[in-house]
Amino acid sequence: MALTNRFGWSISRESLFDDCRRSYYFHYYMSWGGWKASSSPLCREAFLLKRLNSLPLWRGQLVHYVASKVLESMRRKGRIPAEDDVTGYIAERFRKQFAFSESRGYLASPKKQGGRLNIDWLALIDHEYGRGVTDERREKALFECVEGARGLLRSSILAEIMDTDPSSWVIENIDLAEFAQTFDFEGATVFAKTDFIFRGNDGTYNIVDWKTFSGPVPGVEDPAGPDEGKAGIQMGVYGLFAARVTGEPLENIRLHEINLLAGGSRSEHRIDGGNIDFFLGHVRSGIGKLKGVLTGSDIRRNEPLPPGHFPRNSGARCAGCRFFRICLDPSSAVRLD
Ligand code: SF4
Repeated sequence: MALTNRFGWSISRESLFDDCRRSYYFHYYMSWGGWKASSSPLCREAFLLKRLNSLPLWRGQLVHYVASKVLESMRRKGRIPAEDDVTGYIAERFRKQFAFSESRGYLASPKKQGGRLNIDWLALIDHEYGRGVTDERREKALFECVEGARGLLRSSILAEIMDTDPSSWVIENIDLAEFAQTFDFEGATVFAKTDFIFRGNDGTYNIVDWKTFSGPVPGVEDPAGPDEGKAGIQMGVYGLFAARVTGEPLENIRLHEINLLAGGSRSEHRIDGGNIDFFLGHVRSGIGKLKGVLTGSDIRRNEPLPPGHFPRNSGARCAGCRFFRICLDPSSAVRLD
């Protein structure tokens, strides 16, 4: 079956749109089909650049990956794994992935094969742009990964989870790169992408979001960033998913934010009659915004308006932007003017 570039809404998609429309255009439209040799050089270049990661974003993704592995291990073995094993594992993955990116192995090896992700596949923006990563930045990122793993193991929620029925657990399957949680909202697909779900012994429906934010993040789009408003909306979207897809009563839904870089500290949110309209309104207006740059606002066709409708938001972010080469680099032979 031919792949189709389907329209959808997620908090990160809307954030990218708000940050820079040109970047949004490159990411969701220009890069589409760039895996095919027959595509235009610009399309193939956009596809390559789209998959580049910033150091803070990668660090957060690695901690999320290890969190999913810890939960799988708990389900299999019935106990929380030893801290040394987990911190050793995350440090090993870190070094392997960093070396892969530094050697630009991503140019020769596919990210996905046989339906599974190559979990050590990594392409850092700094390596692709030949800037390198200082020892200090690399060691800080490694330290934060190890701290994130420790925060997970030390968080009180892990013991609470261990005490529940594992058959209710929904663990994000990063190996398969699955978007397990989506729901339809007024004809558009909404991506929720929760980190973990479990049924509490008191019957509550619990959605867990691992946070890996440690302070001001330089550069671009780190979804684990400091924007409290967006984090709140994200939790609300999880709540909408639980209410709409599983039919869970609102009073039963618990939304947990666990800050892994703050020792696994917890905060709990609720979705209720007082805020559900706010979340629904946000999703509706976000979809409206993204529809506005489609031909005829037709989400089925999902065909973007010409690039002129996606202006550059040039500024401090451009220096660290993954699309700089095809957007603003005057020396690049492949560029969208
Ligand atoms: S280089 Fe700047 S203007 Fe261009 S896509 Fe990136 S952030 Fe936007």
